[in-house]
Amino acid sequence: MLRNDHDALWHNSLTPQTVRDGGFDATAVVHGKGCRLQDATGTWYLDARAALWNTTLGYSCERIVDAVTEQLRRLPVAQMIRYQEPAEVSLRYARRLVAALPDPLNHVRFGSTGSQMTSAAVLMSRFVRKVRGETQRVKVLAFTNGYHGTGGLAGALTGERQMHALQAPLAPEVHHVRPWDLAALERAVERHGPENITAVIVEPIMGTDVVPAPEGALARIRELCDLHGIHLIADEVTTGFGRTGAMSVMAAQGVLPDMLVLGKGITSGYFPLAALVCSDSVFDEAVSRAEYVFPHGCTADGHPAAMAAGLAVLEELADGTLLERVRTTGAEIRRRLRAAAAEIPLIHDVRGEGLMVGVELRRESGRPGESEMAEVRDACKAAGLLLTSTNNTLVLMPPLVLDEEEVDELVERLTTALRTVV
Ligand code: PLP
Repeated sequence: MLRNDHDALWHNSLTPQTVRDGGFDATAVVHGKGCRLQDATGTWYLDARAALWNTTLGYSCERIVDAVTEQLRRLPVAQMIRYQEPAEVSLRYARRLVAALPDPLNHVRFGSTGSQMTSAAVLMSRFVRKVRGETQRVKVLAFTNGYHGTGGLAGALTGERQMHALQAPLAPEVHHVRPWDLAALERAVERHGPENITAVIVEPIMGTDVVPAPEGALARIRELCDLHGIHLIADEVTTGFGRTGAMSVMAAQGVLPDMLVLGKGITSGYFPLAALVCSDSVFDEAVSRAEYVFPHGCTADGHPAAMAAGLAVLEELADGTLLERVRTTGAEIRRRLRAAAAEIPLIHDVRGEGLMVGVELRRESGRPGESEMAEVRDACKAAGLLLTSTNNTLVLMPPLVLDEEEVDELVERLTTALRTVV
């Protein structure tokens, strides 16, 4: 039985409570402009979550719209799998994308979601082992609370407890250690046997609670992987493509992974696209034996319109001005929120890099629980600001094109909302 539209659309924020109350009742959004979203009642919001952290260029990027439209007119569909001919735009885009990344990250495969490509990274790692005859190397180490997607292997890689528990039986060889506890990571390598471990996967800044790698940690993980011949997979689905003011946080720190996963901002969310970029050595080994072909790919991978959107995003970022601005805008938001913490004790910590900002909330009595966090999000929405939260941290990831006036508005609306819930 359908009671309303929200019953037909099984929204993934539907909870027993919202079902009891007659369904998920968020008003639908109908229009986006710049960094703003309008709902069906006509109310405009400043979108500090950039859809789901992906609309990096905001809702009005004409260059992307034009590129996608033109591509849809010229060649709306093409396949890249099963020996079919790739679209010319895929070849052009792949060249441009790898040119924007450091050597030896020179070989890219395309998929439609971040989840698909974090899974692909692990499967590629295992595939290389198979080609080499190292068939016992199947284990993967990841971080508790890390997020690498949902569904099958990606869900098992994800260290968020609920999601991992549901999907871990599908991929029993994924093991988690405490984020950025390098001694624990080393112990895990010893415990599982370095010769059995194929890969370590990390987000250089964890999206959940916005937890950056401590200084030097990425380099030490790289060293550990090199010592034992383990692949390092960097999941930069959230952190890549300008979110922190760089194309890749790892590359900006001079620590190169064997495989880099990109998504979200890769098309500013205008078309589903994610990428797995492999190093020369992963590529060379994977294609070294004629009898083995990496068995992975879906019908819509490398969709021509996604390729066109990706090219347009690269063009928008090409001269570096936006990336530069992201670093200063993000620093300014953090500075102002830290200053506000003096009179809003609920603000416990403000952290992040570029326009990836975490605002951790605490009360004297302890961490706010989920219902209190929902109250804070509601207060922000009432103040005209959309944001996400994970655990007791508010996560601000506005479009990168946020201007000065919008920075003022964001800080003003957030602090107003936090004052109302104190
Ligand atoms: N990896 C990270 C770090 C992410 O933040 C996400 C999505 O939030 C994913 C992977 C999964 O991407 P998708 O939702 O496109 O499958």
